[in-house]
Amino acid sequence: MSIEKVAVIGAGVMGAGIAAHVANAGIPVLLLDIVPEGATDRNAIAAGAVKKMLKTDPAPFMSKRAAKLVTPGNIEDHLADIADCDWIVEAVIERLDIKHDLYAKIQAVRKPGSIVTSNTSTLPLSKLVEGMDDAFARDFAITHFFNPPRYMRLLEIVAGAATREDAVADLTDFADRRLGKGVVLCNDTPGFIANRIGTFWIQCALVEAMDRKLPIEEVDAVMGRPMGIPKTGVFGLMDLVGIDLMPHVDKGLGDNLPASDAYQDLRRELPLIQKMIADGYTGRKGKGGFYRLNKEGGKRVKEAIDLTNGVYAPAKKASLSSVSASRKGGFKALMAHDDRGGAYAWAVMSKILAYAAALVPEIADDVPAVDRAMKLGYNWKFGPFELIDQLGAGDFAARLKEEGRAVPDLLEKAAAAGGFYRIEGGKLQFLDVTGTYADLVRPEGVLLLEDIKRAGEPVAKNGSASLWDIGDGVACLEFHTKLNTFDPDMLKMVGKAVALVPNKGFKALVIYNEASNFSAGANLGLALFAANTAMWPLVEEMVEQGQKAFLALKRAGFPVVSAPSGMALGGGCEVLLSSDAVQAHAESYIGLVEVGVGIVPGWGGCKEMLLRLSKDPKRPRGPMPPVSSSFETIGTAKVAKSAFEAKELGFLKASDGITFNRERLLADAKARALALVEDYAAPEAAELTLPGPSGAAALRLALKDLTARGLATPHDQVVAGGLVDVLTGGPGADITEPVSEEEVLKLERETFMKLIKTNGTLARMEHMIETGKPLRN
Ligand code: NAD
Repeated sequence: MSIEKVAVIGAGVMGAGIAAHVANAGIPVLLLDIVPEGATDRNAIAAGAVKKMLKTDPAPFMSKRAAKLVTPGNIEDHLADIADCDWIVEAVIERLDIKHDLYAKIQAVRKPGSIVTSNTSTLPLSKLVEGMDDAFARDFAITHFFNPPRYMRLLEIVAGAATREDAVADLTDFADRRLGKGVVLCNDTPGFIANRIGTFWIQCALVEAMDRKLPIEEVDAVMGRPMGIPKTGVFGLMDLVGIDLMPHVDKGLGDNLPASDAYQDLRRELPLIQKMIADGYTGRKGKGGFYRLNKEGGKRVKEAIDLTNGVYAPAKKASLSSVSASRKGGFKALMAHDDRGGAYAWAVMSKILAYAAALVPEIADDVPAVDRAMKLGYNWKFGPFELIDQLGAGDFAARLKEEGRAVPDLLEKAAAAGGFYRIEGGKLQFLDVTGTYADLVRPEGVLLLEDIKRAGEPVAKNGSASLWDIGDGVACLEFHTKLNTFDPDMLKMVGKAVALVPNKGFKALVIYNEASNFSAGANLGLALFAANTAMWPLVEEMVEQGQKAFLALKRAGFPVVSAPSGMALGGGCEVLLSSDAVQAHAESYIGLVEVGVGIVPGWGGCKEMLLRLSKDPKRPRGPMPPVSSSFETIGTAKVAKSAFEAKELGFLKASDGITFNRERLLADAKARALALVEDYAAPEAAELTLPGPSGAAALRLALKDLTARGLATPHDQVVAGGLVDVLTGGPGADITEPVSEEEVLKLERETFMKLIKTNGTLARMEHMIETGKPLRN
């Protein structure tokens, strides 16, 4: 059964977020909550949640339009409306009696065969279906989303003994393809997978830090980056999710786990935490948490709490030789180091890794499920079993033995076999619970460059980019610099790819990579270095090289499809604008942000925005509207916060595709490229009608108004002035004489060179490199 309409009951933090994300996928959703006492608006809770979400940052909605798909209501007046819903998600407060009461009401009105799921974090499925009839139990499962539902990729699904297999298959398929979630099937055990291990990790890191009287800055320096965990570490993470949640999560696990579980040994009274919560120090949402921001003499100072006495002092940068050693030697070097950082890392992580190894197959069928859950649910770069492999399963087991500690069965097997994972014939395999290796099979429609890279050599490669054969006559251009910023080598590979595709018998090109960000634009460091040493010909050459490479992409005799995920800014956006089509991950953040560093888009960004806005039948006609609209978008460095917003701003075309699941992006882009192959004709050289001085005068008037209102700084006026010249065609342009693409590129280049020679622009670039933020000079 396909899921076409959804109901979410409970419009709190999770329910509202889940409803928003279902709406992001284009599915109508009914959002119900209780009727607040004495309220005039009986839908106030659900309606209020939608209103609040429209103002939340990061935004739960991918576009304002998605919000219209959410219909708020209440369970007294609108419960009958769930009768035409295919999936009903319960996300009310964590109380079994309240959930049971609600299920009885749902059962009375839902249509037969609809799926009902709970978002519970702690209640076992067996208890949730207790007392319910068979029909309910057959259609019931747990779908455990992570907060915030739009951004956290993990969805844990738990099926009960009675749950229909096809219901689980339908849910999995919907969550995977439509919602873009990484679905992990879990057993009905407390905390499922991610929170079972994650809570153990946090609790263990906390009590060990307290026992060792470690400064929290040191703990986070050890527990974060060196092991591929977000730099919030543990204390930063607790501040982020809310310290008040901790006692509940702890109690949930403690009450439900057997007395023999290793987690029970970590539990204890924590007076400091109790006091922090009582005093309102619940984390970032409260007065502060383990860290807090204090104002001193008008300056904001980050302070850290002392775990021994609860007193705050200015946070210090941790300096530990184990952390330095990990920069080169990774997790293994950290764990082997004998300073207090290394000792702490071993004390905590050895327990967690051994715990995880002891839990398979109790909590999940196999090792990859656990790794995946930790990677998608806690943003770990490596799962526990991948971390064990980094230490060497044999070495890890031996050190545990040396310390007289138990070695879990599965770890013994891995130690004997040589690790939890291996590569055999170019394929990734994992150790199953019987101790034999099995292929890691990707679902249909999932194509990963990671797998292709493991199996073979690139068609071409330099230090910044590579070209891969992804099968069926399609080549894939992969960027691999830091943040995928453009340098001369990367541009060279773009040019080379255009030549190699036909020469090596490929039919189409996909531009895609598996880094967090598609591309953050040009390498500013390089540009600034050249500018500071006044190597102007070199700067101009780089601008020209980019223009040529991108124009060659556009005019190539084969289809080019770009597939961004994460940031595609500046030059990264200009690649998309130069492609025949884009297949974007829904979480793509696209923009021409050049003015932030004092320049204008110089690799065809201005030209392409003008072209596509003038061709879009849904936008106003005439030469001026595309110019004004480009001026507003580029002049204010607007960044689309989703692929949907990118369509609204014109960075993507209406016909461009959007993929929700990151792991399906390459396969979708490849299919799109192949679909374009037949009858492909490269776009012909275009002409642009630009308004010239009269248009420029109108834009300058708008700029003057912004300046008068204090919205444009002195250097904004210089940069925007340059942008006006490019977009209107310069002083010589005439509305009756269309100009070529090359002429607009020349204008981009000249303006770029003019701006980069100003002190204001150099100051902006320097500031961006140093702080990562734009300078408002
Ligand atoms: P919340 O307190 O923010 O929201 C709960 C909502 O349920 C409230 O708006 C409340 O008015 C409503 N409600 C209470 N009784 C109701 C009823 N009978 N009918 C309809 N609505 C009712 O809670 P939350 O954090 O969103 O948690 C909801 C569920 O999700 C819980 O089961 C929780 O364990 C689970 N969960 C929470 C998180 C998280 O990070 N907060 C993460 C995963 C799962």
